[in-house]
Amino acid sequence: MTSGTPEIRKLPPGVVNKIAAGEVIERPASVVKELLENSVDAGATRIDVTVEQGGMELIRVADNGCGIRAEQLELAVASHATSKIRDAEDLFQVRSLGFRGEALASIAEVSQLVIRSRPAGAEAGAELEVAGGQTKPVTPCGCPIGTSIDVRNLFFNTPVRRRFLRTVQTEMGHVIESFTRIALAQPGSHMCLRHNDRVLHDLPPADRWLDRIAAFFGAKLGDSLIWVESCQEGVRLSGYVADPSVSRGSNRQQYILLNGRQIRDRTLQHALGEAYRGLLMTGRFPVAFLRLDMPPDLVDVNVHPAKLEVRFTDGRRLYSQLLGTLRTRFLTSDLTARARLDEPAAPPSLSGHDPEQAARHREETMRWARGEGSAAEGSAAGDEPTRRWGGDRRPVPEFRPFGAGGPRPGLADPSRPDPAAAQPVRDDRLHATPPPPVARGLQVHHRYLVTENAEGLVVIDQHALHERILYEQLRRRVLSGTLESQQLLVPEPVALSPAETAAVLESRDVLAQLGLVVEPFGGDTILVSSYPAMLAKLNPADVLRQIVESLLENDRTPDRRDLLDELLHTVACKAAVKAGDYLSPDEVATLLQQRHLCHDAHHCPHGRPTALVFSKEELDKRFKRI
Ligand code: ADP
Ligand code: MG
Repeated sequence: MTSGTPEIRKLPPGVVNKIAAGEVIERPASVVKELLENSVDAGATRIDVTVEQGGMELIRVADNGCGIRAEQLELAVASHATSKIRDAEDLFQVRSLGFRGEALASIAEVSQLVIRSRPAGAEAGAELEVAGGQTKPVTPCGCPIGTSIDVRNLFFNTPVRRRFLRTVQTEMGHVIESFTRIALAQPGSHMCLRHNDRVLHDLPPADRWLDRIAAFFGAKLGDSLIWVESCQEGVRLSGYVADPSVSRGSNRQQYILLNGRQIRDRTLQHALGEAYRGLLMTGRFPVAFLRLDMPPDLVDVNVHPAKLEVRFTDGRRLYSQLLGTLRTRFLTSDLTARARLDEPAAPPSLSGHDPEQAARHREETMRWARGEGSAAEGSAAGDEPTRRWGGDRRPVPEFRPFGAGGPRPGLADPSRPDPAAAQPVRDDRLHATPPPPVARGLQVHHRYLVTENAEGLVVIDQHALHERILYEQLRRRVLSGTLESQQLLVPEPVALSPAETAAVLESRDVLAQLGLVVEPFGGDTILVSSYPAMLAKLNPADVLRQIVESLLENDRTPDRRDLLDELLHTVACKAAVKAGDYLSPDEVATLLQQRHLCHDAHHCPHGRPTALVFSKEELDKRFKRI
């Protein structure tokens, strides 16, 4: 060896497998995914998954598929050994879920694995044990037709990986997600999932895909689904999309199956969003269960180690097929009536909800936002100087051209209360404490506030601004430990999915910082026992569900601070006035006053702009004054 140049060595197979395992096997859920895919490829019609301790102790997948011959067992756990493709050509004709021949070798390298298998027609079964990559001799055993694989003590020989694993509940949440994805794709198979001797799912073969979907997500969601279907140039699209009255805070509930394989595809997700444009509120995502079936040569599945992403030969055409199919379907269904039901956004006279209650709630929230005590305290005291707020609902004032009576906006004394706003209620306390400067503004389209500053004309998104104000307030209170929490007289039980329950319990202490105290209540029910006072008028179950969505969006272990921040956003968003809410002139004024208190009034917590400024110069130019 010449000194100075590093020596290049071929890595021993054990190291190669560990590297592959690093890519493919991240946690117990990845093992479940790979084993289930193998069972599906083996043509199984019944698959039983048994898991102990979130899969950290045991994962067993037993199927009634084609089985593996005794003399092939060693090959099954060898790396780059597969029965699914033969040559490079086949890579572009993949019809199976697996094809890389790496999964079993990777899993066997980082666990204690036992395969028992018996093909139909074989007299007996055969058993092979591999511990940390060390293969033992194959021995005969008694077993039913099919294959059963036990994976114990995952990562027992890779302590770093093992340390990355989280609680049983969290890992189980991921396992359930893997199971759900495959079971959704295989509605015709009987599939069963057990955890620590508890049956989580026992799904008989379903005649309709809808039945399998409803088995996971409930009949209520099932009822909101709309069948869509189209066939263009050999690509068949079929499945269900949810009525716009049902939406989610992330795109996690968009299941897309490509030739039976669950995939993640930004382009298709974008097409979905586009199809719902105008039907959902900003920040909400559609729910969809879609199958795409196409000749395998129209797609490259060999681009991602866990085979989650694929590359289409003509992605653009797929995009327009999906968008077109949904748009056509929406045009022919009566969505508007249903969508409106869920829309909190309408002036009181038109909306179905109780405007008085909404007004009271908003009044309290706004008072809270101004730092005038919690909503609960406020209503008990009942004497806040800004009591006039919200209670008296007047029609939106008519827009008057500048100069048509009243002080001209540019010249008005900003410290003088707006006479129009102050008139209806005479409140002597106003004189005791000088009122803050009144910011003038006007609500338009029930969603924007129009005002002015030194630069020019300012148009503000009312929801985004209020959300920002509440967020800043909440954050200050959480950090200083002065956030009020209110104990519920009767704790509220909230039924969640196992994955959601896990996520909530995992983040209990962060939730407690927000004033939301939760306890396990057995099964997948969570008890909410204390609740942020500012949200007193909102339904705890709704708020918890919303929070769960943001918890689940953080796929990876979120930093505690990030998580808290994320939850603050969620709570602020939930409590803020919505686009479409009618605001009285006083409410408009208070919002505008608060504006200057935020650190960053230009962006809502999601980063969207809260305000647009049309400069005086620009206006002058447009009106051809300069
Ligand atoms: P791949 O699925 O990419 O081929 P794996 O490592 O997952 O690679 O599996 C290796 C081989 O073992 C498969 O090609 C298949 O022939 C066989 N095999 C694995 N699991 C099963 C099973 N449950 N039933 C029948 N054969 C199986
Ligand atoms: Mg496989």
